[in-house]
Amino acid sequence: SVLRADQIWIDGKFVKWDEGHMHVMTHALHYGLGVFEGIRAYRTHDGRLAVFRLKEHIQRLMDSAHICLMKMPYTAEQLEEACLELLRKQRDLFSNGAYLRPIAFMGDGAMGLGAVNPIRAVITAWDWGAYLGEKGIREGIRAKVSSFTRMHVNVNMVRGKISGQYVNSILAKREAVLGGYDEAILLDISGFVAEASGENIFMVNKKGVIKTPPLSSPILDGITRDTVLKLLKDSGRYVEEVTFTRDALYIGNEIFFTGTAAEITPVREVDNRQVGEGKPGPVTKFVQDTYFRVVRGQEPRYAEWLTYV
Ligand code: PMP
Repeated sequence: SVLRADQIWIDGKFVKWDEGHMHVMTHALHYGLGVFEGIRAYRTHDGRLAVFRLKEHIQRLMDSAHICLMKMPYTAEQLEEACLELLRKQRDLFSNGAYLRPIAFMGDGAMGLGAVNPIRAVITAWDWGAYLGEKGIREGIRAKVSSFTRMHVNVNMVRGKISGQYVNSILAKREAVLGGYDEAILLDISGFVAEASGENIFMVNKKGVIKTPPLSSPILDGITRDTVLKLLKDSGRYVEEVTFTRDALYIGNEIFFTGTAAEITPVREVDNRQVGEGKPGPVTKFVQDTYFRVVRGQEPRYAEWLTYV
């Protein structure tokens, strides 16, 4: 299905969706120098629309640009406001929620790797359902450890969400899907579990210990990961941020992925080995339930994470 909406924000102006074009000489198209975000807005329990952790996402976008020596032509406040305004202009279209995609990239002008062209900025929004499917959210998905490796921290800038780096994720994702699986899990260069192609990973072992790879692993500093760490800690559960092996996943009781697009997606099978009972376990269910309550504004304790449109 083709995604579309009504309006796009391009370099400070709102244009019609069909007018969202760029020149073929756009530098980023050739070399991948772009930074982006994925942000969700949810319809809250009282019928309003709220963006989840907008500030943190825009801050990560600014940080990604800084890492890439890209001079962002807008302030964080301007980008936050543009995200909100884009949703306001399409309020009817997005009454059930929206996925926001801010992206900044090197525009056209000079070619070659040494070029320093003006940075362009775009924000689009569309209606995006469960990234790994409604059934995946309910029953869990099947994952495969990838033959592709998450790149070393001095190859990929792992604190950035950088367009070109996603070729690694796409290769892993397509390999997994072509092999009949739903998602790929990538290991780091030492063979320890890093993250999925577009999600962070958590596991619960047989002793009930919850683990997730540390930020010193080649993983994105996921905002959903951070949210889940807080929700678990606030509920009195301890989470170990440690590296672990792929076979720890095989013999674990529960595994789940976290990401803005994928939300909280249980993993019921890894490399054809059933995980635990083969269905979402109690920790996964707790995290899922709480997460969906938080994003829908039903947990006053976390109200500061919501920006109402
Ligand atoms: N890892 C990768 C590689 C991702 O692309 C994403 C999605 N942005 C995540 C993890 C999850 O990050 P977040 O929770 O901030 O969406």
